[in-house]
Amino acid sequence: MKALKRFGQNFLVDKNILNLIITRADLKSSDCVLEIGPGHGVLTRELLAHGISYLHAIELDERLHASLDDFTRDNFALHWGDAVKFDYDTLSPFPNKLVANIPYNITTPLIWNLLKYASNGLRYYLLMLQKEAALRLTAKPDTKERYPLGIAIEAMGHAAIIHNVSRTCFKPVPKVDSAIVEIVIEKNFELSGNALWRELLHAGFAHRRKTLINNLRGFREIQDLGEFANKRAEDLTCRDWLKIYHDLTKIKFLI
Ligand code: SAM
Repeated sequence: MKALKRFGQNFLVDKNILNLIITRADLKSSDCVLEIGPGHGVLTRELLAHGISYLHAIELDERLHASLDDFTRDNFALHWGDAVKFDYDTLSPFPNKLVANIPYNITTPLIWNLLKYASNGLRYYLLMLQKEAALRLTAKPDTKERYPLGIAIEAMGHAAIIHNVSRTCFKPVPKVDSAIVEIVIEKNFELSGNALWRELLHAGFAHRRKTLINNLRGFREIQDLGEFANKRAEDLTCRDWLKIYHDLTKIKFLI
């Protein structure tokens, strides 16, 4: 089977990295796990071997039937479809952990979508990501990597790079390096489905070199940006963003 670039098909071949993912995921017999993009099933096999209660896997490329048909068992469900558009509400039992080596081209829309399911109980993600995406997700204020999704995650929990992964750990070898990122969601679950919060962050970053007073002009309800007016979006802390959001909606979130 020819690996397709448009499906981000770089398959993990390094056993040490596989072991590291499994150890870090700290799998329990009560865990219901979600895997996105099982590919030929290298991670799927390990997840199932660790006595979890259930595994859901979502795969887009139906040419992988031959590899994945071997995994038939009572506590495994394979769903064919696009993980970005997938209706996760249909999963039963509902997963509490996501462990996956995802296709890198869907990273941002996928995580935005998944954050909505924190209130259903999906609050832990262990993801293999392109290194640049990992740096953006974990970027601190005042850095050029800072971007809306990183702030959205920080407002709900935290993200950390656990391990840098060389491109030579995959086949075919991609043009970029990778990193394993752990995301834990623990508060403010309502924020994720809130269109205005997402809109505010995206508008703030729309023109990175412009000040907030210019980027947020469309939000007429914001009376006064005060100390933030002449700052740039990337300079603000998560607390600052929640403060602006509070001024806009009068809804208060935990900091
Ligand atoms: N988990 C395997 C591994 O570690 O070797 C494969 C990882 S590979 C980086 C990404 C996988 O995601 C591929 O199997 C690809 O077909 C699948 N994929 C690509 N786009 C997808 C999408 N939108 N939804 C679900 N799966 C997708």
